Amino acid sequence: MRYAVLTDIHANREAFEAVLADAAGRGIDRYAVLGDIVGYGPDPGWCVERLAELQQAGAIAVRGNHDRAIGLADSALNQNARRVIDWTVDRLTAAQKAVLAGLPLTHAEGDLLFVHASANDPQDWLYVTSAQHAMPSFRVSTARVILCGHVHRPQLFSCDTAGRVTGYPVLVGHALPLLRSRRWLGVIGSVGQPRDGAPLAGYAILDEGSNELTYRRVPYDSATTARKVRAAGLPDALASRLVKGI
Ligand code: ZN
Repeated sequence: MRYAVLTDIHANREAFEAVLADAAGRGIDRYAVLGDIVGYGPDPGWCVERLAELQQAGAIAVRGNHDRAIGLADSALNQNARRVIDWTVDRLTAAQKAVLAGLPLTHAEGDLLFVHASANDPQDWLYVTSAQHAMPSFRVSTARVILCGHVHRPQLFSCDTAGRVTGYPVLVGHALPLLRSRRWLGVIGSVGQPRDGAPLAGYAILDEGSNELTYRRVPYDSATTARKVRAAGLPDALASRLVKGI
């Protein structure tokens, strides 16, 4: 099975389209979307519709903190994020809101676990940004490969049989072997709001046959998305960060 793993789309139609086009020619059997379909970006309805289509075709999807914040007043989002969620609520149909409300927090399948943030207490939306922060996910799960998002920067960690966790450099475009003697946690980069200094849409391909994880980056028209953010009256900082990739 070859999975295309997408996360943190954040209502960015141009980035989502670019990633789907890139994945289309790569022999993907199944899509997995790790949450935050909406928030920050100007095309929430379009992105939820695409998610629903992917789900109808068998995609895995889990819930992100921005998806959860739809319709909730008490979510712990920063000011800009909250402003966009309030704007987003008025732009989603009841059916689209139901798609987001129906997403589970985690999805386990075979020796894989899909989750938006840290796998321990996934509803607390903890960021996996270091080997130390990766450790609790390995402790609570027996999955051989855990895949998450939320950080918006691609990262890779592994855990040996003694429970020691190590970080690995992510070489974009290289098929990274997930040695069977270890367990792995891949933090997948964001489709729609990359924060590692490159304004490129991120996703990854997990190949169960060859047991390899390939992080990919795809150019997209971030200037158009930024223009739409401004035209919608959303915070300017959310537009400028898209073209800088920060
Ligand atoms: Zn996010």
